[in-house]
Amino acid sequence: MKKDNGKPVGVRVETTRQVLRAKGTLTIHGVSKSDVGEWDNDSTMAMKAVSSDSFKRSAVLWSLFRYAYDLEQKWCKYDNKTKKIVEPPILPDWALPVFPCVDCKKPITRVGQSSPYDIKIRTTNALGRPLCADCGKIAAAELESKKG
Ligand SMILES: [Zn+2]
Repeated sequence: MKKDNGKPVGVRVETTRQVLRAKGTLTIHGVSKSDVGEWDNDSTMAMKAVSSDSFKRSAVLWSLFRYAYDLEQKWCKYDNKTKKIVEPPILPDWALPVFPCVDCKKPITRVGQSSPYDIKIRTTNALGRPLCADCGKIAAAELESKKG
């Protein structure tokens, strides 16, 4: 090996971007499964991202949230004043759970920006049971007519 001022030459040192790692553990009924999340430390939301990644990877070990890997990656703007995501992404229908309408037994489907889950919660709170949009309108009209 050649020497240059006492230092070896021909050795190239590359600096790599620092990567944060976090171990996430998801415990269900006393059984824990862990995985490591990684994120590029140069990102402004690195700590949040590495925590989320470790949680997602731990959940996948339980077969939870596995579909997340099939979702299109989308970055969203975050409003620091309101502490909310600006224009949050909408999950595709295939990624949403299916809830049956109690009255007609058909699956509750998305209406505009409202997911089936949103509609299930809204109709349960307002009408006492999870209903599809059509049955919800009928039940709401019946409720109004009873009020007089
Ligand atoms: Zn229905």
